[in-house]
Amino acid sequence: MQHMRGFMPLHWDARKGRLYLEIPHLDADFLYFNSLPYGVGSNDLGLDRGQISEPRIVRFEQVGARILLVQPNQFFRSSAADPAERLALRQSFPESVLAGFSVEAQGADGAVLVDATDFFVRDAHDVLAALTQAKQGAYKLDEKRSAIAVEGTRVLPKNTEVEVLLTFATDAPEHGSIVADVAPDPHALTVHEHHSFMELPGPGYTPRRFDPRSGYFELTYRDYAAPLGAPLNQQWIMRHRLIKKDASCTNACVAAEPIQYYVDRGAPEPIRGALVEGARWWDQAFQAAGWAPGTFRVDILPEDADPMDARFNIIQWVHRYTRGWSYGPSISDPRTGEIIKGNVTLGSLRGRQDYLIATALLSPYVTGKVIKPESDPMLAMALARTRQLAAHETGHTLGLAHNFAASAFPHAPDESVSVMDYPHPWIILNGDGVPDLAHAYAVNIGRWDKVAIDYGYRQFPAGVDERAGLDAILSDATKSGLYFISDEDARPPGSAHPNAHLWDNGPNAAEELLRIMKVRAAALARFGENAIPMGAPLAQLEDTLAPLYLMHRYQTEAAIKEIGGLDYRFQLRGDGQMNSAIVDAAEQRKALRAVLGTLSPEALTLPETLLKILPPRPPGLERTRESLASSTGLTFDPIAAAESAADLTLAVLFEPHRAARLIEYNARAGANPSLGEVIEGVLAVNRPSHRQTGSGQGLFAEVQSAVYARSVEALLRLAAYPKDSSAVRAVVLSKLDQVKQRSDPNSAMEAYLIYRIDRFLEDPEKFQPAPPVEAPPGMPIGDD
Ligand SMILES: [Zn+2]
Repeated sequence: MQHMRGFMPLHWDARKGRLYLEIPHLDADFLYFNSLPYGVGSNDLGLDRGQISEPRIVRFEQVGARILLVQPNQFFRSSAADPAERLALRQSFPESVLAGFSVEAQGADGAVLVDATDFFVRDAHDVLAALTQAKQGAYKLDEKRSAIAVEGTRVLPKNTEVEVLLTFATDAPEHGSIVADVAPDPHALTVHEHHSFMELPGPGYTPRRFDPRSGYFELTYRDYAAPLGAPLNQQWIMRHRLIKKDASCTNACVAAEPIQYYVDRGAPEPIRGALVEGARWWDQAFQAAGWAPGTFRVDILPEDADPMDARFNIIQWVHRYTRGWSYGPSISDPRTGEIIKGNVTLGSLRGRQDYLIATALLSPYVTGKVIKPESDPMLAMALARTRQLAAHETGHTLGLAHNFAASAFPHAPDESVSVMDYPHPWIILNGDGVPDLAHAYAVNIGRWDKVAIDYGYRQFPAGVDERAGLDAILSDATKSGLYFISDEDARPPGSAHPNAHLWDNGPNAAEELLRIMKVRAAALARFGENAIPMGAPLAQLEDTLAPLYLMHRYQTEAAIKEIGGLDYRFQLRGDGQMNSAIVDAAEQRKALRAVLGTLSPEALTLPETLLKILPPRPPGLERTRESLASSTGLTFDPIAAAESAADLTLAVLFEPHRAARLIEYNARAGANPSLGEVIEGVLAVNRPSHRQTGSGQGLFAEVQSAVYARSVEALLRLAAYPKDSSAVRAVVLSKLDQVKQRSDPNSAMEAYLIYRIDRFLEDPEKFQPAPPVEAPPGMPIGDD
């Protein structure tokens, strides 16, 4: 047998393929979680290299002849001193026994040896559930093709790590499935899963109370011993332990132990350097919170270090088949919210997408001009984004949530407001009308980030009332115009906040939309052969065009959210923050006008000069999910491209919750735009009587006709939404009736729209609304 000594010793019988676990102490709590060291490489399945599951507190107990792995209930607790009260609580809610073992040997010191092979060789990370959910076919774990992966199994001082190779097999893989894209043979999907047993942190950590204004992830549990007038739910923030070496220190205090992060050696230069640089920005926030320089540290992972080691916070570099989210989960103590290990995952394809966006904006491959890495503006922009992203995801592992309102706080163009917002590149036009990327992404940690770190990590001197100190940090921030608005309030399509958006810029969404449409138009006007290198397949122009053509998509969402929008804060009674307020009627109309511009033929019709140089796709350059829609087969389709861009606008604008809010806000104050007014505005842009039919404008008129049809289909979708309020349905039906009345049955498209509306009216329950024309999915500039 091979013996591995450390936290929980392992004994490996290579001949029989059995792994024995030595349990030194029964009834002792420790952390247990699973991960996926070798992933599936698919963003759609969400099974990335390095992914970790929620950690749980468990312990081994002996009951009769069995050794049980028990997960006690952490959500229902009692802080009562009386053991009878605590027992009553414990007996009221269930525990979960995760596994049972029989005793192979027991030492005089109480240590127990169990054969844990079967416990480890199983789908603990729930890959099967992900495959089932994504309808990938009937896969099953094949134990004959699965084994303990001894090379990934090790015992360290504070954790025991067991890796297994698992094969999920099926006789009938789905044709064209995601698995078929990524696995050499879709009959067998082989991954590695990992079990981690980790020591719980020792005493000395003080949990900090959660405040909805603070911008932190929270740990919530129920304390049934709380007094009747006090909340049942107890909430603490997630954060690392950071304690002053000298408790009496008041500023630039040295930490007993700094917070140290490591960047994966698997990231290539110059990306690796950018990751280190960006993540290091956080030290600025710790300094602002009263800590000495170097309290937050980032280095390249030493060559002999193990990224699985519980003692290391890690920034991992991950490859996937398609580009997708990066994220920043952490392993924390479920009792207190103390973060034990930050585990950032960064997707490698995003840098390529940033480079592509920059290329589309610049059309830089002018004949005879050589682009060197040291003066490559596209590379510079991609690296600037990488720094920002490293800071963002690391921020999550410090406990911070998104602050999607940050980009709307008044600030200088180069000033960093928060790395915890999603940034859209800030592109300006130079004096010659050429896009300038030099200011695309702000550098350094933001003003809001300093507030958040101050809240979570300031250690107040003895004698200072911590609650008052924390309140003061947040109320000072409010007074300086900084506040926190997070995910649910910002995510399209239905959210209401006029300042909290993803990938937007500036304090006024409508004005920024008008500005970005000008930048887009200028870049489109310059777009041509120079957008790809000499010798590249000319059809590659289509791929470069896609992110430029759709460049306004996120700022459009931002502007739409002003329409039927509600400005609000996470208020506490007495904190002096503003009451919720319906977005000013004039601002709503200004936003509507800007948004209608995204449906106009001027914005959506591509020029003949570009269309005539776009060839069909050659062999070896098939369309992918990154391609613009096409109804014309191999050839580029400018009308489907226009339809897909229009549908991005329409899906958010005609969203059921927004529609219901428009009715309510118009009822509360008649000056606010009504749902009918918004619908009328959309239909007017491309209504038959508004068509442009001059010579050479045939494509204009065809795009108008197509977008008008998409607008009617979007209304039909809204009318068919099963949970609509009666008022929304009534308004939409009356508008559809007007569309019918105004239509000319002698025009083919108008006759078709009358037919569609009649089919809906005939049997609304059976009516199949047409889905939006697909745009390249996911977030071209995304992160999480
Ligand atoms: Zn994020």
